[in-house]
Amino acid sequence: MDVNSLLSGISCTCGKHHVCDIEAVYIERGAVARLNALCAPYESVLLVADENTYAAAGEKAEAALADKIASRVIFGKEILIPDEKATAEVEAALGDASLIVGIGSGVIQDLCKYVSKRSGIPYMVVATAPSMDGYASTGAAMILGGMKETVCAGLPRAIVADTEVLKNAPMPMLRAGFGDIVGKYSALSDWKLSEAVNGEALCPYIYNTTYEMIERVSAMAEGITARDEASVAALFEALIIVGIMMSFAGSSRPASGSEHHLSHYFEIAGIVKNEPYLTHGIDVAFSTVITARIREKLCSVPFPARRFRESEEKTLAKLTAAYNESVAEGCMALQKRVGAYGRDLTPIYKEKEAEIKKILSEVPKADEILALLSTVGLDMKEFDDLYGEEKIATAVRHAKDLKDRYTVLWLYYDLFGEEAI
Ligand SMILES: [Zn+2]
Ligand SMILES: [Zn+2]
Repeated sequence: MDVNSLLSGISCTCGKHHVCDIEAVYIERGAVARLNALCAPYESVLLVADENTYAAAGEKAEAALADKIASRVIFGKEILIPDEKATAEVEAALGDASLIVGIGSGVIQDLCKYVSKRSGIPYMVVATAPSMDGYASTGAAMILGGMKETVCAGLPRAIVADTEVLKNAPMPMLRAGFGDIVGKYSALSDWKLSEAVNGEALCPYIYNTTYEMIERVSAMAEGITARDEASVAALFEALIIVGIMMSFAGSSRPASGSEHHLSHYFEIAGIVKNEPYLTHGIDVAFSTVITARIREKLCSVPFPARRFRESEEKTLAKLTAAYNESVAEGCMALQKRVGAYGRDLTPIYKEKEAEIKKILSEVPKADEILALLSTVGLDMKEFDDLYGEEKIATAVRHAKDLKDRYTVLWLYYDLFGEEAI
């Protein structure tokens, strides 16, 4: 499958015409030099990077852009949070730039995407690591008002990725990209689950293509950790294709479910409580093991006929303990708006118990996911040691409240409440 052939969109069997408005994707050695021709229509460029990504690809980008660079924002080495403060810093440097070029991976690109949306100025991506799947998706993963929010922003005009830069990315970032892909087992299952429970629309083409990317990347583990250029390029391509699938779907549904919500819990709780958390894709990878355990438990017992219920005050108090007051109120307001606390899905759970269990059992077991993660050197001990049993249990209970999306976390909560998995 060639990435660029997808960019022209497809008329799908699901009845929709899927589009992804990116002009070009270049994944090749020396790709950054392409910026010269790609930026020809633009007068002046704002370059955004951090010290590490600037060191990886900044010089090449500057050589390609020559005298078009009007200003630069180079963030320091401390962890960059894509929040109001970082946004203001980029916006202050915009001047009369007609294009934003982001050099980096997740956070830098989310910021550029978000500023592009707010300012109406287009942006381009110079990717420095195959660490996540957001490069080709419209969602900017921001932290606004303390909440993790995926803002629907625009797509980049183009994505350039020098395979020599990608293969030399820090090893945790290569593992993170692998982990973000492994997480699709869980995300795709959640999508299917929601189709069965809520009648949510599911596009088989998007589902199958995303599934294909898991299989493709799983077979590349050895090459990825050996920094084999072709394997790392294939991982990056898979991440881009998953991004395009999100654009096709018009949401992150194919790529983000319960495993991402758990990772968002660790990130948000980490930020508000000033506690450490892992890189996005690595949190997603280990969280996929947790969601696999939830599915196994759900398959091993009969579904209760009655729904777990809790008073609003209790829920608010627990959310406040899990996050803080303002995030808890944000979660309550969101869930009230979508009516998640009030709905009772148990009649559907009972009626479709066999179908639901079949969907849940199609996902690899926790042990299989663990084995897959170990092929790139990811050891669950890192996750267990960092978060501990209690924090992981809190994530299982309260990650779902952060989002307006039905997943296996809701199914588990509805049926078993706070029971340990
Ligand atoms: Zn479709
Ligand atoms: Zn992700």
